[in-house]
Amino acid sequence: MRDYEMVIGLEVHCELATESKIFCGCSAKFGGEPNTHVCEVCSGMPGTLPTLNRKVVNYAVRAGLALNCEITRKNKFDRKNYFYPDLPKAYQISQLYYPICRNGHVDIRTANGGRTIGIHEIHMEEDAGKLVHDPVTGMTMVDFNRCGVPLLEIVSEPDFRSAEEVIAYLTKLKDTMQYLGVSDCKMQEGSMRCDVNLSVRPEGQKEFGTRTEMKNIASLRAIERAIEYERERQIDVIEEGGSITQETRRWDDDKEYTYCMRSKENAQDYKYFPDPDLMPVEISDEYLEEVRASLPEFADAKRERYVREFGLPEYDADIITGATSLVKIFEKATAVTNQPKDVSNWLMTDLLKLCKDEGTAAEDMTFDGGRLGTIINMVNAGKINRKTGREVLAEIYSNGGDPEEYVKSHNLAQVSDSSAIEPVIENVLAANGKAVSEYLAGSEKNFQFLVGQSMKALRGKADPQAVRAALEKLLGKMK
Ligand code: ADP
Ligand code: MG
Ligand code: ZN
Repeated sequence: MRDYEMVIGLEVHCELATESKIFCGCSAKFGGEPNTHVCEVCSGMPGTLPTLNRKVVNYAVRAGLALNCEITRKNKFDRKNYFYPDLPKAYQISQLYYPICRNGHVDIRTANGGRTIGIHEIHMEEDAGKLVHDPVTGMTMVDFNRCGVPLLEIVSEPDFRSAEEVIAYLTKLKDTMQYLGVSDCKMQEGSMRCDVNLSVRPEGQKEFGTRTEMKNIASLRAIERAIEYERERQIDVIEEGGSITQETRRWDDDKEYTYCMRSKENAQDYKYFPDPDLMPVEISDEYLEEVRASLPEFADAKRERYVREFGLPEYDADIITGATSLVKIFEKATAVTNQPKDVSNWLMTDLLKLCKDEGTAAEDMTFDGGRLGTIINMVNAGKINRKTGREVLAEIYSNGGDPEEYVKSHNLAQVSDSSAIEPVIENVLAANGKAVSEYLAGSEKNFQFLVGQSMKALRGKADPQAVRAALEKLLGKMK
């Protein structure tokens, strides 16, 4: 059998995190009771007019600059005409002729090294509604809440050669959008959706093969599997002397195969024409510079700086910069403590564990980093011991509240004063006569046992150093 090379291009839709929809004032929030985020504009009533949400343009320009694109100065919107029950206007407002961003690129890294993936264009458009199929009654209902939610469609060049590159690109895209604050890119909620265009060609052939398109695959894991399956399928067809039909296929993640959904439509089928209801949008030099100046520090730069400036292990820096929620916690706690390494340790071990035990994804954690900072400060200053610190963190994590107040009201301050510790230890020694005499006869390991008993008697609040010192002193007297 010949060797084949796979060629992939992606069309990624990101729902923008604006308060309101792209052409009306309805809420753009995910979910809600069906048909409660709806008005006459987004439900397609005749005679209504769209008003462009200025924020959408801002978010598109931010994304375009972050992805190294040229920004189109004179933007227009076009109508893409098609009838579908979840699209009440029977056309979608999109951008065909003048997309807002073009000719960008994203640098990715895989086990095989670095590569650059070209971005063909990014355009603004509106989302359609949702059909809900009821398996019990066999009826289909329509929910217009998502109609008119703003989308960016990011179209890549056919530059991918492996599933690994696709995953690296999507991860980077998601990171970038989250850092920009323009989209939360949650595949599980549909705020990031990916169409995979895939073809194969014999190794060494210059021309691309015919591609198929797999629509809206719901997770990175499923994308990986769909790519693997479709690659094998196409190679089999070609090896058996057949040819690939350009079509849209759907990936069934449970049954693990793709099947034909419809033959591929092309731009003519949609009878695109400029939308007569919307004015062109011009982007000035000043506006562009303003947006450029407001771009945040992105994951790559942050990761590198955490290692260089704070001395964090690369592994830690990688995890923290992988989610903006963790970056926020880390940076706030560091501002409070000035001890980035301590913060990273607490975050990587204690906080992520609490989050995991609770079943929350790290990217959804909303814990206030300032409180973590306060706890670390109390531990570092010897006000509470590490163990108490951990307990306070768990308490504040689940039930909220102020760590300092909690320590005070629960009387958790560390006891290191020997006049408070020694009487308690004397009682412990009296109650553990056997262990004491064995220790005095030379059994060293009993010392650790007595430390444990003393810590327990002091209800875990004592400074372990002070307990050891007091034990050594009192046992020394008995020798
Ligand atoms: P359409 O608008 O009809 O979906 P485009 O030409 O805009 O088609 O391409 C859509 C996506 O398909 C782009 O991401 C592009 O990179 C990718 N693509 C185009 N040709 C091929 C091919 N032969 N193999 C794999 N991907 C391709
Ligand atoms: Mg397409
Ligand atoms: Zn509306």
